[in-house]
This record gives sequence, structure tokens and C-alpha cells, in this order.
Amino acid sequence: MKALDELTFDNRFARLGDAFSTHVLPEPLDEPRLVVASNAAMALLDLDPAVAETPVFAELFSGHKLWAEAEPRAMVYSGHQFGGYTPQLGDGRGLLLGEVYNEAGEHWDLHLKGAGMTPYSRMGDGRAVLRSSIREFLASEALHALGIPSSRALCVIGSSTPVWREKQERGAMVLRLAPSHVRFGHFEYFYYTKKPEQQAELAEHVLNLHYPECREQPEPYLAMFREIVERNAEMIAKWQAYGFCHGVMNTDNMSILGITFDFGPFAFLDDFDAHFICNHSDHEGRYSFSNQVPIGQWNLSALAQALTPFISVDALKEALGLYLPLYQAHYLDLMRRRLGLTTAEDDDQKLVERLLKLMQNSGVDYTLFFRRLGDEPAALAVAKLRDDFVDLAGFDAWAGLYKARVERDGDYSEEQRRERMHAVNPLYILRNYLAQNAIAAAESGDYSEVRRLHEVLSKPFEEQAGMEQYAQRPPDWGKHLEISCSS
Ligand code: AMP
Ligand code: MG
Repeated sequence: MKALDELTFDNRFARLGDAFSTHVLPEPLDEPRLVVASNAAMALLDLDPAVAETPVFAELFSGHKLWAEAEPRAMVYSGHQFGGYTPQLGDGRGLLLGEVYNEAGEHWDLHLKGAGMTPYSRMGDGRAVLRSSIREFLASEALHALGIPSSRALCVIGSSTPVWREKQERGAMVLRLAPSHVRFGHFEYFYYTKKPEQQAELAEHVLNLHYPECREQPEPYLAMFREIVERNAEMIAKWQAYGFCHGVMNTDNMSILGITFDFGPFAFLDDFDAHFICNHSDHEGRYSFSNQVPIGQWNLSALAQALTPFISVDALKEALGLYLPLYQAHYLDLMRRRLGLTTAEDDDQKLVERLLKLMQNSGVDYTLFFRRLGDEPAALAVAKLRDDFVDLAGFDAWAGLYKARVERDGDYSEEQRRERMHAVNPLYILRNYLAQNAIAAAESGDYSEVRRLHEVLSKPFEEQAGMEQYAQRPPDWGKHLEISCSS
């Protein structure tokens, strides 16, 4: 266990120099205070969780103090936003403070979001509000606990600094951790600004540090792109299987590591709705729940375009062709497991599709359906769930197929089935209304609810005594909360 001043820095991205990022000091927030910290994320830096409560912790993560070895930098990138190319973006309100390596030899970028203006702030104020910082914190840690690759969050620091959005709010900072903050948009930036040398430097950097095993392949860059395609297919399969809607899948928000990244108006589905749009500003539904799958491929094509200086178009096309079949295989594998199946049959995809269609038409709670399905043996479980469906005949037909399928699947005890299913079907997810409750309390100075919710979501598969209220469908007020993009 380390104290805060014992972190070891090795700022590899900063060393790439001024063509890649600009030195900027964080602008401190007034009266910083700890809102919430993640012990699991602290452990990634070998930090003793007790240090979160010390005043210097809040000072370090609100811009008041800096390690001597930190080198705060704003990174430059660009990206396709809602399908159109924006030639220059960059860290408009976040800073890469430096890279820390832990005792296991892993590197973690420390990225402070809401740290003030940078050369890339455009019209923005460089700030993040408490509400959006709490949402990013809760989502990153909750996704990780569900087994969905994500950037992590160490803490949220609140303040008294006024920040104007639709109304006056308070500024906050969230400390994000990821092995790299390189986005698809980094490659696009150097490609479209026609800087081949820097683009090659960036590609070498990412290859050497994050895809070293691809070095051994005959075409290392192609191997790396293939791996990126595979990771995206798997990540998006997990989003779809667990009902996560990212909301702003612009290429500047897509991590080169294939992890969920840059949280805005994201949401987890309550009722199953394939057409759900969580981003209030996404009028066309470009990033609707079901569109996430083709958009994943669209984004990879945008990256592929930026990699044409290194890889032949034919090879890129072939690698892109892996995306859909891989996505489908991962998705089906997860959905089989969510249904409690241990074997594969040809018609399983249809079984899943029929169920989702029935759910869609009945407004069935996506998370609780699967959890309850695993509570009991199949026949009993479907009999209890039947009342949630509008199309009873349709559900009965599906239930018949499902029971027969379970029968063919194998001979296991009630206990085995429950254990296996509960290990993949969470009881607790980050419902928008739960986040909203925690935010409302935090905005009035009470951080206990954010901390409790974080705690509950860190063990989503484990039933926790006294936490029944976190495993409920939303009340009427919490069903269709509109999450604004301004954060
Ligand atoms: P996002 O939609 O949050 O991923 O942000 C898109 C771009 O806008 C990124 O370059 C951000 O750094 C920038 N940005 C977002 N909010 C602000 C803000 N309040 N101040 C400055 N830049 C911002
Ligand atoms: Mg972004």
C-alpha cells in the first residue's frame, strides 16, 4: 500500500511532445471536498483507501496540488461527431496529469476532467458539473463490476465554484483512470491534417505500449487493427446484452483500447426498448440502443480510413468484415448464458429475438426479467413472469420453446441453475433514477447516497441485505428522465 506521495510516474505520452499535447496547469476549484472514491480504483494505484479521506487527496484532484513528477497535458484529437467530421477537438476540459505504474507493472493514465480551460476549450468553460461527474464515476465503476470493459474512476471532488449550464450549478472534477487516453480521433487528427510523421509516431506509441503482442505478427499494424475490431465487437456485444446505451458514440469518444469511454447522457435500459435514445440531443436516433451495433462498425471504418497510410485497403476491409460475425458470436454467447443455457443450438438466436420482441411490446424490465428467470426452475420462473407480458399467447409459445430448450440443455439442479444464472444476471444496475436520487442528495451536500449506490453497484450480482430499494423498477417520475448533453 502506498501513500499519495509515493506514486511512481512515467509520462510516456507527454514525451511524444508538443505536436501531441500542450502543457496546461489545472485551474483549482474552490473549497474542494471528497464526494466519493472507489476503493477498487485506489487499489489499481496501490493506494491505501484511507488516503481518500485526507485533505491532500481532495487538493490533488481539484487542481490545488500537483506531484512534482506529474506533467499535465491537454491532448489534441479530432473526430466524427454525429457522422460529420470536426477537424479539431482535444481535451477541452480534461488534463492528462501523468502516467503512474503500479507494483504489478501496469500503467494507468491519471486524467482529471473538469480541470479548466485549455487551448481546445472552443466555446466551453473547461468545467464539469457535479451531476455529470457523479454520473461518469458511477457508470465507469458499475460497468467494470458487470464485466464490461470501461475506463475507471478514482474519485469525484466537489466544490463551491459556480458553473453555468441551463442554471447555476457547482463545479466538480472526476479523476479518470485508463491504460491509455488515445481515441480513434487521435489517428483521424494526424491523418486529416496530413502529418504522416506524427501519425507514424502515434501508431508506434500505441502499438508498442498497448498492443506489444502484435509486434510479433507479420503485419503488426494490421494485427493491431484486427485486435481493435475484435475488442469493439466484444465491448458492444456486452453493452447490448446488458442494456447499456452509450449515447454519444462519436469517434472522439471511442477508445483505442476498446473500452467504454467518455460518459455523457448514457443510460441503462429499464424497460426493454430496442429503439431507446438516451441522448436528448440525438434527434435522429443515430445512437439509439439498437443502432449501437452498426455504429460500432461505422466508427471502426472511420478509424480504418485514418490507418490507410499503414495498411492496405483490402486488408482493412477484411479486418472490418470480422466485426459483425464476432459481435454476433459474443452477443449470442452472453444471451445464452443469461438464459441459463450451457450448450449451443442453431435456433438460439431466434429464441432470444422472440423474447426481446415480446419484451419490447410489453415494457418488461430488462434486468429484472433475467434475474427472476434464474430465481427458480424454468417452468416455475416463466409461470411467474407471465403476468408481465401483454401478449400472453405469444409469451406462452415462447415459454414452451424455452422450457423444452432448457430440458435439452442438460440435467442440473435448481441450485446450480440459480447460481450460474445469478452470476451473469445482475440484480442491481445503474438506473437513471437511482443516479438522479444520488445526485439530488449530493447537490444539497449529502454524499451518503452516492457512496451507498456506488457500493451496491460494485457487487451487482450479489444480493445485498437491506438494499431491496436498489433492485426496483423506476417510479413513474423516474421512467423517462431526459439527460441533457450539457455536462
Ligand atoms: P464530449 O461530447 O463531452 O465528448 O465533448 C466533445 C468536445 O467538447 C471535447 O473536445 C471536449 O473536451 C469538449 N468539451 C465538452 N465540454 C466542455 C467544456 N465545458 N469546456 C470545454 N470543452 C468542453
Ligand atoms: Mg468526449
